[in-house]
Parts: sequence; structure tokens; C-alpha cells
Amino acid sequence: MKLEIMTGDITRMQVDAIVNAANTTLLGGGGVDGAIHAAAGPELLAECKTLGGCETGQAKITKGYRLPASYVIHTPGPVWRGGDYGEARQLADCYKNSLSLAVSRGCETVAFPSISTGVYRFPLQLASEIAVKTILDFLKTDKLLRRVTIVCFDDHTKSFYDKALEKLK
Ligand code: ADP
Repeated sequence: MKLEIMTGDITRMQVDAIVNAANTTLLGGGGVDGAIHAAAGPELLAECKTLGGCETGQAKITKGYRLPASYVIHTPGPVWRGGDYGEARQLADCYKNSLSLAVSRGCETVAFPSISTGVYRFPLQLASEIAVKTILDFLKTDKLLRRVTIVCFDDHTKSFYDKALEKLK
């Protein structure tokens, strides 16, 4: 099983790329975005300023600077607006486009946070099922990735991803 779920702090992950649940400005924010910028140092914001933002569901890559990870992949998740505004498709796009970008840069190990389930209020059960299904589908055809880790910040969040994996594997 190349997909692993754990509780922890994504800024500590020693992987080729960590994914940032960014906003469309790519200029930093709260939550996991703020934690990644704080740990990476000001050089990360300087590089992000050159990128011109990013659309919801798309992904852009920077170096990891002071992080143990070589790269940061920035993907703005959808804000939950009740489910009728394409939020599920956009969340799946975040995972798919981040993995495609990682592979195109030669990454073999990638870590994701629980995208959109913080201040963006995407329901955790649906978000976890979309995340796990999209990653498992990607892994079916990919040959480069050795490990994809979903790093949950707390055990409550992890329990949803564990259940989704149990259901979908
Ligand atoms: P979004 O705006 O996409 O909802 P948030 O940063 O508000 O993003 O929340 C996404 C998830 O990231 C939440 O489950 C939050 O608890 C978690 N999170 C916050 N800090 C970290 C961290 N250092 N490592 C991993 N996950 C984190």
C-alpha cells in the first residue's frame, strides 16, 4: 500500500514534496499555509510572489527552502458553499494536479494535508473520500511514486481518512 495516513505536522515531513492548502493569491494565510511559510522562511513568500497566484484546483511548485522537503506544491482548495458549485470536482483536481506536478518534477514521496477541511469548511467525510479515491486512482497508473502520505493534524481528522481508506481500498 503506497498510500499512508498519519497524524503529525506536515512541515516536519522529510519527503520530496509537501502540498500546501494555499489560497488563490499564493501569498500565505493561516492554518497549514501559515505553518509552511513560517517553517520555510521568507524566501518561500518571495518565490510565491513571482507566480501570479493560482486558480482553485490548479497547482504550482516552489522550492522548500528551510523545510526538510525539497519542494512545496501550492494548491488552493475550494471553499465549501453547500456542494452545488463544483466543490467536489475542484477538490479532486487539487489532489490530481498536485500529484501530476510532483511526478513531472521527479518526486517519489509526497505528503498532503487535509485540503479545504479547515477554514474552507469542506465536510470531512466527503473530503476524505474524495482525497483517498483520487490518490488511489492516480497510483493505479503511476510508476514513479513510492509513497503518498496524508498528514492529519489531529486524530479526529485522521479517523475520517482511515475510514475512507478502509472503504475504498
Ligand atoms: P483550508 O483553508 O484548505 O481549509 P486550513 O489550513 O484551514 O486549510 O486547514 C486544512 C487542514 O490542515 C486542517 O485539518 C488543519 O487542522 C490542518 N493543519 C493545520 N496546520 C497543519 C500542519 N502544520 N500540518 C498538517 N496539517 C495542518
